[in-house]
Amino acid sequence: MSDVFADLVGQDEAVVELRRAAAAAAAVLRAGAAALVAAGPVSGAEPTSTPGGVDPSTGMTHAWIFTGPPGSGRSVAARAFAAALQCVHGTGCGECPGCHTTMGGTNADVRMVVPEGLSIGVGEMRALVLRAASTPAGGRWQVVVIEDADRLTEAAGNALLKAIEEPPPRTVFLLCAPSTHPDDISVTIRSRCRVVPLRQPPATAVAEVLVRRDGIAPDVAQWAAAAAQGHVGRARRLARDPEARKRREAVLAVPRRLTGVGAAFDAASALIEAAEAEAEASVTEADTTERAALETALGAGGTGRGAAGAIRGAAGQLKELEKRQKSRATRAQRDALDRALVDLAGFYRDALTMALRAPVAPVHTDTAALAGAGAQKWDAEGSLRRLEAVLACRAAIEANVKPRIAVEAMMLALWKG
Ligand SMILES: [Zn+2]
Repeated sequence: MSDVFADLVGQDEAVVELRRAAAAAAAVLRAGAAALVAAGPVSGAEPTSTPGGVDPSTGMTHAWIFTGPPGSGRSVAARAFAAALQCVHGTGCGECPGCHTTMGGTNADVRMVVPEGLSIGVGEMRALVLRAASTPAGGRWQVVVIEDADRLTEAAGNALLKAIEEPPPRTVFLLCAPSTHPDDISVTIRSRCRVVPLRQPPATAVAEVLVRRDGIAPDVAQWAAAAAQGHVGRARRLARDPEARKRREAVLAVPRRLTGVGAAFDAASALIEAAEAEAEASVTEADTTERAALETALGAGGTGRGAAGAIRGAAGQLKELEKRQKSRATRAQRDALDRALVDLAGFYRDALTMALRAPVAPVHTDTAALAGAGAQKWDAEGSLRRLEAVLACRAAIEANVKPRIAVEAMMLALWKG
């Protein structure tokens, strides 16, 4: 049982739907290329009657949106579905060349778009749409996976919409986004796509996959799965990386440290600086490698004829690279800070459920005693106010408030209650 859907944790309904669609897609290929074209712009929102026996509710469509909370496996699902579309058996067997190359990221007909910066620009999207219109080299489908489709700029969204409205016959777009809220995906794109909602996988399912696939000890897997709140990648990192565990412990020490105004500002600085350090560690290596590669390509150090002109051109390219790297660093910082805020929210959520005596397991078993003490001191109302302060901070940063200002406001709110 190791087909391409095996790593999609706790998403049984979505897997059933995707398997059915992959089978329908294979049937379309067998019937000849015309069938899916004849189905016209198939839309989940407004089912059309379809010649050729392609039922829009179970069959194949040109455009899909995978939604779900971070870590639920949106991109894992999209990649698995892409593999099933390239699978020679049409099932996502996990064994054939189509499955192998897609899962390994080397299939010529599958493009994964992973935005490194804060948004996906129109230039990138136009180039992508153009290439996606070509005939699939492997004779099956051209698949374009857009991770974080909520980061499309408006112009890029319009370029994509055009392609989705008049899809090339063998092209399939798979978008990933947190939700179908208009803030994440434009209403017009949404109306042209079938939506596959993923849920937050239960901790038991996450623990099971850590044990089975990553060989992690069951007790560690269970602790990490609960602490990561259903985020599979985060759970794996917590189980394996001592640095990640140390950072989490520092974040969870915050509630204890809030003893006054000064301490609240100190805690804010510590949180921001920790996020910056984590982000820097994650991008520095890539930055250095990219810069070295570009300098080599530009012939840095050349002294021959034409070197001066080359240097002028090189400066522009280096500037472009620096811009891209800066954007990536900003995003890495925000992601690191967001992870910390999610951990902190888990702590106050534990205090709230304890104050309410709700029969649910704590997110952070290792700080459960501390959360229990908080529950007694703050009661349900005070715990809820603190939880809301953390969530408000996340929302503010999402809405482009300067992280330091948002975090300082949050720490003061957590201290005052
Ligand atoms: Zn296969």
